[in-house]
Formats: sequence, C-alpha cells, structure tokens
Amino acid sequence: MAESPESGAACTECGGAGYVVDQLVGSSARAHRCACQVTCTRCGGSGYVMVATGKGLVAQGCSCRHLDQRIATFNAAGIPAAVAKASFDSFRPWSQSQSKAKTACESFAHQVRSDRASRGVLLHGKPGCGKTHLLAAALRWLALEKGISCRYVEFMLLLSDIRAGFGSNRGHMEILGPLASVPVLAIDELGKERGTEWERSMLDELISRRYNAGLTTVFATNYPRDPAPVPVPTGGKFHTASKEFQRDAELMSLEERVGQRIYSRLNEMCDFVIVDGPDYRKDAEPGRGSFWR
Ligand SMILES: [Zn+2]
Ligand SMILES: [Zn+2]
Repeated sequence: MAESPESGAACTECGGAGYVVDQLVGSSARAHRCACQVTCTRCGGSGYVMVATGKGLVAQGCSCRHLDQRIATFNAAGIPAAVAKASFDSFRPWSQSQSKAKTACESFAHQVRSDRASRGVLLHGKPGCGKTHLLAAALRWLALEKGISCRYVEFMLLLSDIRAGFGSNRGHMEILGPLASVPVLAIDELGKERGTEWERSMLDELISRRYNAGLTTVFATNYPRDPAPVPVPTGGKFHTASKEFQRDAELMSLEERVGQRIYSRLNEMCDFVIVDGPDYRKDAEPGRGSFWR
C-alpha cells in the first residue's frame, strides 16, 4: 500500500498508506481509514465483490478488508497515547547507539512472521532515549504493514491490573492469558517493579508460557545489562553497596532486578540492544521540534 494505485500520486493525508493514526489523549493509539480509502473502487465500500464461479456469482471479501483488519489489529495493540504516532520514520536518532537500535528494531519488525518463532529484541538504556518509541514503532509496523496481532504492556501497570482483578474475583490468567498467547508482545519498563516473589512469579509465568509456545517477545528496560560501578562513599556515611541504595539510585543491573532465572530466559529469547544518547525529555533543543511527532 505504498502508493495510491488509482491516481499514481500518494494521498497527502496518509501518504498512500490508507490509514491515519489519531493523536488522542487518555486512550491507547487508534487508527482509522483515510478519507482516500473510504469508498473502495472495487466494492463501493460494501466489503464484498461478486465473483463469477462455476456455480454462478459468489460474494467474496474485497481485498480492501485487509486494511480494516490491520487497523483493528493496531487498535487492539494497546499502544500508549503518548507514542500513538511513533513510527520508524518519525524516530530521529541523535546518537550512533540510537541509529543502531533503530536498525535493529526495523530488521526485527521486517523479519517477524506469524507462523514461526522470531528472536526478539531487548532494548536497554537510560530513560528518555526512545526505547518506548521504538517498541511502538515495531508494533505499528507489525499491525499495520503485516497484519500481525501484537500487544504492548507496561509491566507495572499489568501487575496493577492483575491485583485489581483479584478484588473482582478474576484470576491472574484472565489478564495474563491473552498476553501469553498473542503472537508478538512488547513488555515495557521491565524491572521497574519492586521485585517481590509474587511479581517475579507473574513475570516468570508470562515469559515461560510465551517461550514454551515459541512466541516472539520484545522488551525495554531502564536497567543496564551490567551493574553500574558503585560510587565510592565519601566519609563512609552512605551504604552505597546496599541493595536499598542501589535500587533507589537505579544502579542495579537487569539481572539483579528480575532474577537469574528470568534473565537467562531473556538472553535465550532476545538480542540485547543498547539505546543511549541525550535525554529527549530533558535535552530537547529549542526549535528542533518535538521528538514525539
Ligand atoms: Zn489517504
Ligand atoms: Zn473494497
């Protein structure tokens, strides 16, 4: 759907994609059919075409229905409103690491297929370097360009949903189940949870089910692959080596945050990709325009 086949010139609204992503506040990302696609020239918008067969005329689904299916797939992905418009095209790297991360996510998204397991990516790096943008861009590509079902979850919010479900007698599998079986799942803010045994058991169950089913999972985390060097205390007043201090200072490694068992599973499922560079939320240059286009 790169170009409008009718006119030969791309639509100025959707660039020929056929869909437009809305910028909404307070809900997850939504797309709709572009006005240029509202009346299909093949089916007149009915979604059906009559095809002559040996048994006479038979109604068949028009190919334009793929567009609606892809839009529905995108709308079900739960991409946060803040990154509703995030795409690979709108990701403008400021550092070499961001360029490499973008390339890694693009090649990931291009090679994913719905009928076989693909190796995921795990993006790690300090906050504000575009990890969530890249996750959202990958899901957008999968949903809108390939029609592959996918979901985005922020792990802390997922845990809150599971806890809230207990209050209304909903078991954890009611919430985890669909996430355990969706073809591609993006888990953001991995390791930000408190790290209780229950939280780890939820993460372990979700990841193990997906791993055993051969499903593709991508992750983003603010925690580094290797632990940061612990600052030398001046005057010996700070217990900087204590877990409490490190947790507060975000000095722990991802392995320390999620535990060795989950960490080794992550290594089996994903390529680790560092995303580093200036903090978009703090270091945005005046006049450069918004990063989140
Ligand atoms: Zn259009
Ligand atoms: Zn049609």
